Amino acid sequence: MSADRLLPDIVSLSPSGLDDWERCPRLYLNRHLLRLPPSDDGVSSGLGNLVHDLLRLLHVSGDCHDERLQHETLENHGVEENTAVSAMVRQHAARCPSPSRAIGHELEVVRLRRGSPVWIGSGRLDAVWSHDGILDIRDYKTGAPRDGSLAEDSRARFQAWLAAPLAAGGRMRVRYEHLGHDISADPIEYEPDADDLARAEADLTAVIDAIRHAAARAEFVGVRDREICRTCAYRSICPDSASVGTPTWPLPDDNGSSLPTS
Ligand code: SF4
Ligand SMILES: [Zn+2]
Repeated sequence: MSADRLLPDIVSLSPSGLDDWERCPRLYLNRHLLRLPPSDDGVSSGLGNLVHDLLRLLHVSGDCHDERLQHETLENHGVEENTAVSAMVRQHAARCPSPSRAIGHELEVVRLRRGSPVWIGSGRLDAVWSHDGILDIRDYKTGAPRDGSLAEDSRARFQAWLAAPLAAGGRMRVRYEHLGHDISADPIEYEPDADDLARAEADLTAVIDAIRHAAARAEFVGVRDREICRTCAYRSICPDSASVGTPTWPLPDDNGSSLPTS
Protein backbone atom coordinates (compact mmCIF):
# COMPACT_ATOMS: atom_id res chain seq x y z
CA MET A 1 0.00 0.00 0.00
CA SER A 2 1.68 3.19 -1.11
CA ALA A 3 1.06 6.65 0.35
CA ASP A 4 1.26 7.99 -3.20
CA ARG A 5 -1.73 5.91 -4.18
CA LEU A 6 -3.70 6.60 -1.02
CA LEU A 7 -3.39 10.37 -0.71
CA PRO A 8 -3.23 13.23 -3.21
CA ASP A 9 -0.63 15.98 -2.71
CA ILE A 10 -3.30 18.16 -1.14
CA VAL A 11 -5.35 16.15 1.33
CA SER A 12 -9.04 16.93 1.74
CA LEU A 13 -11.17 16.24 4.78
CA SER A 14 -14.86 16.60 5.63
CA PRO A 15 -16.61 16.62 9.02
CA SER A 16 -17.92 13.08 8.40
CA GLY A 17 -14.42 11.93 7.39
CA LEU A 18 -13.05 13.46 10.57
CA ASP A 19 -15.73 11.72 12.60
CA ASP A 20 -14.82 8.38 10.99
CA TRP A 21 -11.09 8.99 11.57
CA GLU A 22 -11.75 9.65 15.26
CA ARG A 23 -13.93 6.55 15.54
CA CYS A 24 -11.43 4.28 13.83
CA PRO A 25 -8.52 4.97 11.43
CA ARG A 26 -9.21 1.71 9.58
CA LEU A 27 -12.82 2.76 9.02
CA TYR A 28 -11.53 6.05 7.61
CA LEU A 29 -9.18 4.15 5.29
CA ASN A 30 -11.91 1.84 4.02
CA ARG A 31 -14.57 4.47 3.46
CA HIS A 32 -12.68 7.61 2.46
CA LEU A 33 -9.41 6.49 0.89
CA LEU A 34 -10.14 3.03 -0.54
CA ARG A 35 -13.83 3.91 -1.07
CA LEU A 36 -14.86 0.32 -0.41
CA PRO A 37 -18.55 -0.47 -0.69
CA PRO A 38 -19.97 -1.51 2.70
CA SER A 39 -19.68 -5.24 3.40
CA ASP A 40 -22.27 -5.17 6.19
CA ASP A 41 -25.52 -3.50 7.07
CA GLY A 42 -24.72 -0.38 9.06
CA VAL A 43 -26.85 2.21 10.79
CA SER A 44 -29.57 3.11 8.32
CA SER A 45 -29.42 6.70 7.02
CA GLY A 46 -32.88 6.48 5.40
CA LEU A 47 -34.75 8.41 8.10
CA GLY A 48 -32.12 11.14 8.29
CA ASN A 49 -31.98 11.56 4.52
CA LEU A 50 -35.78 11.83 4.31
CA VAL A 51 -35.96 14.46 7.05
CA HIS A 52 -33.15 16.48 5.45
CA ASP A 53 -34.88 16.32 2.04
CA LEU A 54 -38.23 17.38 3.48
CA LEU A 55 -36.76 20.34 5.34
CA ARG A 56 -34.81 21.53 2.32
CA LEU A 57 -37.94 21.29 0.18
CA LEU A 58 -40.06 23.13 2.75
CA HIS A 59 -37.60 25.99 2.94
CA VAL A 60 -37.22 26.43 -0.82
CA SER A 61 -41.02 26.22 -1.28
CA GLY A 62 -42.01 28.71 1.39
CA ASP A 63 -42.26 29.09 5.15
CA CYS A 64 -41.63 25.94 7.19
CA HIS A 65 -44.13 27.26 9.79
CA ASP A 66 -46.96 27.14 7.22
CA GLU A 67 -49.09 24.19 8.37
CA ARG A 68 -50.74 23.74 4.98
CA LEU A 69 -47.33 23.60 3.28
CA GLN A 70 -46.10 21.15 5.93
CA HIS A 71 -49.10 18.91 5.31
CA GLU A 72 -48.74 19.02 1.51
CA THR A 73 -45.00 18.35 1.61
CA LEU A 74 -45.42 15.37 3.93
CA GLU A 75 -48.32 14.00 1.90
CA ASN A 76 -46.45 14.36 -1.41
CA HIS A 77 -43.68 12.21 0.04
CA GLY A 78 -45.99 9.56 1.43
CA VAL A 79 -45.33 10.55 5.04
CA GLU A 80 -48.36 10.11 7.26
CA GLU A 81 -49.31 12.42 10.12
CA ASN A 82 -48.44 11.36 13.66
CA THR A 83 -45.27 9.58 12.62
CA ALA A 84 -41.72 10.19 13.83
CA VAL A 85 -40.89 12.02 10.59
CA SER A 86 -43.89 14.40 10.75
CA ALA A 87 -43.08 15.11 14.41
CA MET A 88 -39.49 15.98 13.47
CA VAL A 89 -40.62 18.40 10.75
CA ARG A 90 -42.85 20.20 13.24
CA GLN A 91 -40.19 20.09 15.94
CA HIS A 92 -37.91 21.87 13.49
CA ALA A 93 -40.47 24.61 12.74
CA ALA A 94 -40.66 25.43 16.44
CA ARG A 95 -36.88 26.09 16.43
CA CYS A 96 -36.40 27.68 13.02
CA PRO A 97 -35.33 31.35 12.72
CA SER A 98 -37.28 31.67 9.43
CA PRO A 99 -38.37 34.16 8.01
CA SER A 100 -34.81 35.37 8.59
CA ARG A 101 -32.56 35.70 5.56
CA ALA A 102 -31.41 32.28 4.37
CA ILE A 103 -27.83 32.10 3.12
CA GLY A 104 -28.49 28.57 1.88
CA HIS A 105 -29.93 25.12 2.48
CA GLU A 106 -27.80 21.99 1.98
CA LEU A 107 -25.02 24.47 1.27
CA GLU A 108 -21.77 22.96 -0.03
CA VAL A 109 -18.74 24.78 1.38
CA VAL A 110 -15.06 24.36 0.54
CA ARG A 111 -12.16 26.09 2.25
CA LEU A 112 -8.46 25.95 1.53
CA ARG A 113 -6.10 25.96 4.49
CA ARG A 114 -3.03 27.91 3.46
CA GLY A 115 0.33 27.36 5.10
CA SER A 116 2.15 24.14 5.58
CA PRO A 117 0.68 21.69 4.96
CA VAL A 118 -1.93 23.05 2.58
CA TRP A 119 -5.17 21.06 2.86
CA ILE A 120 -8.80 21.36 1.78
CA GLY A 121 -11.84 21.21 4.02
CA SER A 122 -15.26 20.59 2.55
CA GLY A 123 -18.72 19.81 3.82
CA ARG A 124 -22.43 20.40 3.50
CA LEU A 125 -24.23 22.72 5.92
CA ASP A 126 -27.89 21.83 6.41
CA ALA A 127 -29.03 25.44 6.77
CA VAL A 128 -27.32 28.81 7.18
CA TRP A 129 -29.32 31.81 8.36
CA SER A 130 -28.46 35.43 8.97
CA HIS A 131 -30.41 37.14 11.75
CA ASP A 132 -29.91 39.39 14.75
CA GLY A 133 -26.34 40.14 13.73
CA ILE A 134 -25.25 36.49 13.76
CA LEU A 135 -24.55 33.81 11.17
CA ASP A 136 -26.61 30.85 12.38
CA ILE A 137 -25.44 27.43 11.09
CA ARG A 138 -27.91 24.61 11.66
CA ASP A 139 -27.27 20.88 11.56
CA TYR A 140 -30.31 18.59 11.65
CA LYS A 141 -29.88 15.44 13.73
CA THR A 142 -32.32 12.57 13.96
CA GLY A 143 -30.32 10.69 16.60
CA ALA A 144 -29.65 11.40 20.24
CA PRO A 145 -27.27 14.16 21.37
CA ARG A 146 -23.74 13.09 22.25
CA ASP A 147 -22.30 13.65 25.68
CA GLY A 148 -20.24 16.79 26.22
CA SER A 149 -20.50 20.33 24.95
CA LEU A 150 -20.63 21.23 21.27
CA ALA A 151 -17.53 23.37 21.78
CA GLU A 152 -15.62 20.10 22.26
CA ASP A 153 -17.27 18.31 19.35
CA SER A 154 -14.74 18.19 16.51
CA ARG A 155 -17.52 18.02 13.88
CA ALA A 156 -19.05 21.30 15.08
CA ARG A 157 -15.65 22.97 15.34
CA PHE A 158 -14.91 21.87 11.76
CA GLN A 159 -18.28 23.19 10.54
CA ALA A 160 -17.58 26.54 12.20
CA TRP A 161 -14.16 26.72 10.55
CA LEU A 162 -15.70 25.90 7.16
CA ALA A 163 -18.40 28.57 7.55
CA ALA A 164 -16.15 31.28 8.99
CA PRO A 165 -15.58 33.06 5.63
CA LEU A 166 -19.37 33.49 5.31
CA ALA A 167 -19.40 35.33 8.64
CA ALA A 168 -16.62 37.69 7.44
CA GLY A 169 -15.32 38.24 10.96
CA GLY A 170 -18.77 38.75 12.50
CA ARG A 171 -20.53 36.61 15.10
CA MET A 172 -21.35 33.03 14.16
CA ARG A 173 -22.97 30.10 15.89
CA VAL A 174 -23.35 26.38 15.17
CA ARG A 175 -26.55 24.85 16.53
CA TYR A 176 -27.46 21.15 16.39
CA GLU A 177 -31.21 20.56 16.07
CA HIS A 178 -31.85 17.11 17.57
CA LEU A 179 -35.31 16.76 16.09
CA GLY A 180 -36.36 13.68 18.04
CA HIS A 181 -35.54 15.28 21.39
CA ASP A 182 -37.02 18.19 23.29
CA ILE A 183 -33.99 20.34 24.04
CA SER A 184 -35.62 23.70 23.30
CA ALA A 185 -34.95 24.88 26.85
CA ASP A 186 -31.26 24.04 26.55
CA PRO A 187 -30.18 24.31 22.88
CA ILE A 188 -26.98 22.57 21.84
CA GLU A 189 -24.89 25.30 20.32
CA TYR A 190 -21.39 26.68 19.97
CA GLU A 191 -20.37 30.29 19.32
CA PRO A 192 -16.64 30.39 18.54
CA ASP A 193 -14.48 33.50 18.58
CA ALA A 194 -11.37 34.12 16.45
CA ASP A 195 -9.13 32.26 18.92
CA ASP A 196 -11.46 29.23 18.92
CA LEU A 197 -11.38 29.16 15.12
CA ALA A 198 -7.58 29.39 15.09
CA ARG A 199 -7.40 26.47 17.56
CA ALA A 200 -9.84 24.47 15.43
CA GLU A 201 -7.64 25.01 12.38
CA ALA A 202 -4.54 23.94 14.28
CA ASP A 203 -6.29 20.79 15.56
CA LEU A 204 -7.54 19.94 12.07
CA THR A 205 -4.06 20.43 10.65
CA ALA A 206 -2.74 18.01 13.28
CA VAL A 207 -5.31 15.46 12.06
CA ILE A 208 -4.15 15.96 8.47
CA ASP A 209 -0.57 15.34 9.63
CA ALA A 210 -1.66 12.17 11.43
CA ILE A 211 -3.47 10.90 8.32
CA ARG A 212 -0.41 11.59 6.16
CA HIS A 213 1.77 9.84 8.72
CA ALA A 214 -0.54 6.79 8.76
CA ALA A 215 -0.54 6.69 4.95
CA ALA A 216 3.24 6.98 4.75
CA ARG A 217 3.58 3.97 7.09
CA ALA A 218 0.57 2.15 5.61
CA GLU A 219 -0.73 1.85 9.17
CA PHE A 220 -4.41 2.46 9.70
CA VAL A 221 -4.93 0.49 12.87
CA GLY A 222 -8.45 -0.65 13.71
CA VAL A 223 -9.96 0.38 17.02
CA ARG A 224 -11.09 -3.18 18.02
CA ASP A 225 -13.88 -1.75 20.15
CA ARG A 226 -16.96 -3.96 20.43
CA GLU A 227 -19.37 -1.03 20.70
CA ILE A 228 -17.89 0.84 17.72
CA CYS A 229 -17.36 -2.28 15.59
CA ARG A 230 -20.93 -3.49 16.29
CA THR A 231 -22.40 -1.04 13.76
CA CYS A 232 -19.38 -0.70 11.45
CA ALA A 233 -20.16 -1.21 7.76
CA TYR A 234 -16.93 -3.25 7.34
CA ARG A 235 -17.05 -5.47 10.43
CA SER A 236 -17.15 -8.81 8.59
CA ILE A 237 -14.10 -8.09 6.42
CA CYS A 238 -11.99 -6.22 8.93
CA PRO A 239 -9.09 -8.13 10.53
CA ASP A 240 -9.31 -5.82 13.56
CA SER A 241 -13.05 -6.21 14.08
CA ALA A 242 -14.29 -6.89 17.61
CA SER A 243 -17.73 -7.82 16.28
CA VAL A 244 -18.75 -10.72 14.07
CA GLY A 245 -20.64 -9.87 10.90
CA THR A 246 -22.01 -11.53 7.80
CA PRO A 247 -20.96 -9.86 4.56
CA THR A 248 -23.74 -8.70 2.30
CA TRP A 249 -21.37 -8.97 -0.64
CA PRO A 250 -21.87 -11.94 -3.00
CA LEU A 251 -19.70 -14.86 -1.83
CA PRO A 252 -18.06 -17.38 -4.22
CA ASP A 253 -19.51 -20.89 -4.13
CA ASP A 254 -17.43 -24.07 -4.32
CA ASN A 255 -17.10 -23.66 -8.10
CA GLY A 256 -15.78 -20.12 -7.79
CA SER A 257 -18.87 -18.36 -9.13
CA SER A 258 -20.54 -15.65 -7.04
CA LEU A 259 -23.74 -16.25 -5.12
CA PRO A 260 -25.74 -13.58 -3.31
CA THR A 261 -26.10 -14.10 0.43
CA SER A 262 -29.62 -14.35 1.80
S1 SF4 B 1 -14.73 -3.28 12.29
FE1 SF4 B 1 -13.97 -2.04 14.01
S2 SF4 B 1 -11.75 -2.03 13.75
FE2 SF4 B 1 -12.62 -2.66 11.79
S3 SF4 B 1 -12.89 -0.79 10.57
FE3 SF4 B 1 -14.80 -1.14 11.64
S4 SF4 B 1 -14.66 0.04 13.54
FE4 SF4 B 1 -12.58 -0.19 12.73
ZN1 LIG C 1 -37.40 26.18 9.03
